[in-house]
Order: sequence, then structure tokens, then C-alpha cells
Amino acid sequence: MITVLGELCVGCGHCVPFCSVDALSVFGLAVVDSDLCIGCQVCIEYCPNHALRWDDI
Ligand code: SF4
Ligand code: SF4
Repeated sequence: MITVLGELCVGCGHCVPFCSVDALSVFGLAVVDSDLCIGCQVCIEYCPNHALRWDDI
């Protein structure tokens, strides 16, 4: 699953359009809808602040 690192995310929304299934949104910080996320991990590459992390759980 994708984890948003709250201490690094600045809520810029840059990651949002790179999610092909619209699982990302921003409410102050980025939020991942785990029901929609397919685990492609593409968003991780597009966060300029390295605020998105993949955890194999
Ligand atoms: S996760 Fe990264 S790209 Fe997405 S809103 Fe937070 S800082 Fe911006
Ligand atoms: S891992 Fe893929 S599907 Fe999940 S939020 Fe990131 S870009 Fe979207």
C-alpha cells in the first residue's frame, strides 16, 4: 500500500494527475483511496518531496 509521509507532503497536488485510476486526492495532504489504488507505484516517482512510500503489506 501507498503511505503518505505527513512530514514531507506539502499538499501541492503534483502527484494527483499521474494516478491512472484517480486514487489520489489532496485534503491538506495527499490522500490515497485504498479501494481504488492498484499499487502501480507510479505516483512515487512524481512526488518532488519524496512523500510517497510503498509498503509491502
Ligand atoms: S505526495 Fe508529494 S506530490 Fe503529492 S501532494 Fe504531497 S508533496 Fe505533493
Ligand atoms: S500506486 Fe498507482 S494506483 Fe496507487 S495511488 Fe499511486 S499511481 Fe495511483
